[in-house]
Amino acid sequence: MNNRSDLSALKARALKALDGLDAEARDLALRIHAHPETGFEEHQAVAWITEMLEGHGLAVERGIAEIPTAIAARARGAAPGPTVGLIAEYDALAGLGHACGHNLMGAGMAAAAVALRAVMPELRGSVVYSGTPAEEGGGGKILMLERGAFAGVDAALQYHAGPDTSVATGCLAVQTVQFRFSGRPAHAAAAPWKGANALDGVLVTFTAVNALRQQIRPDARIHGIITDGGQAVNIIPERAAAEFGVRSTDGAYVRELMGRVEACARAAAGASGTAVAVSHGLFHDSLKYVPALAGVVRQNAKTLGFDMAEKLVGASTDLGNLSQAVPTVSYTLPTCPPGVGMHTREALDAGASELGLRGMINDARVMVTTAIDLLASPEILETVRAEFRGGNSTGF
Ligand SMILES: [Zn+2]
Repeated sequence: MNNRSDLSALKARALKALDGLDAEARDLALRIHAHPETGFEEHQAVAWITEMLEGHGLAVERGIAEIPTAIAARARGAAPGPTVGLIAEYDALAGLGHACGHNLMGAGMAAAAVALRAVMPELRGSVVYSGTPAEEGGGGKILMLERGAFAGVDAALQYHAGPDTSVATGCLAVQTVQFRFSGRPAHAAAAPWKGANALDGVLVTFTAVNALRQQIRPDARIHGIITDGGQAVNIIPERAAAEFGVRSTDGAYVRELMGRVEACARAAAGASGTAVAVSHGLFHDSLKYVPALAGVVRQNAKTLGFDMAEKLVGASTDLGNLSQAVPTVSYTLPTCPPGVGMHTREALDAGASELGLRGMINDARVMVTTAIDLLASPEILETVRAEFRGGNSTGF
């Protein structure tokens, strides 16, 4: 399909199909919002999403990458060709519910997949609804990536809830690290000299990290908490522990800084005469920006009446790891009022509001038209691939 008017007609038909799904998508988003499930426990959300996809003729594969709440639903075109992935999320925040708008992602992208299915007979390749669990700290996409779940995907599309009209130019890579100090208990008054103070290991680690902070790049963040401060005030602490997060827009710099933070803890162990055990959380990489892919999104958003700015996202996501392996774009149309931050009560309310639901449908409209461009125009995908191979821009 090279003819511009054919392409516009095809997009119009897909958008009409999406209009017909409006009530169903809203209802699905509200149900998921009212029944929040945390990472890897999203059984009800996945059941409802599967019900909608299957109800519209999409075959849903369950238990992708041996994760019970990961799914994939593929709509095939008339002939073999590229694969566009719609990267959905549906997990909630522990204790706070759907305050990151993932209900709007899970439901709206299901509607987008169904709308695209309606026009796939006129396109080559396929569209896959990729249901990825546990974005909030569980790293569902990282596990899925390691297990080959995204093999064959040529471009990955995601929108995220938020107050902005923007496309993400990057995000912060992050890795957490746990330090568990073990010393020797002793009576804190009668014979403190017989003890080795594990809490001192933690406190000296913080002092050393505070000194390190002055010598790190401005795009990096190191933040920590004490997770175990000792057992009782009259005992020299036998055990103490701390956890740190290390972040930067540059994943390689996070790895470098992690080595220096670990050196702080080892030095603290030496200073306090204790031993330290080190364990790491999953490494969440930065988002690799592919301007050509973002350009297709921005163009389609513009046609639909939205002027997207470029924005560096100040959070971290497992989408970053996927973006290092597959050309990926993440964008936002307003689903909550200006200035509202994610992971707040205001964001929670917005996820079930008219603004949130309307934003979800707008996001899905951009996703549908972007996917059609990528499948209909091999030259666009070629440019995206070349740009992706060519560099690693992270926004700074
Ligand atoms: Zn989120």
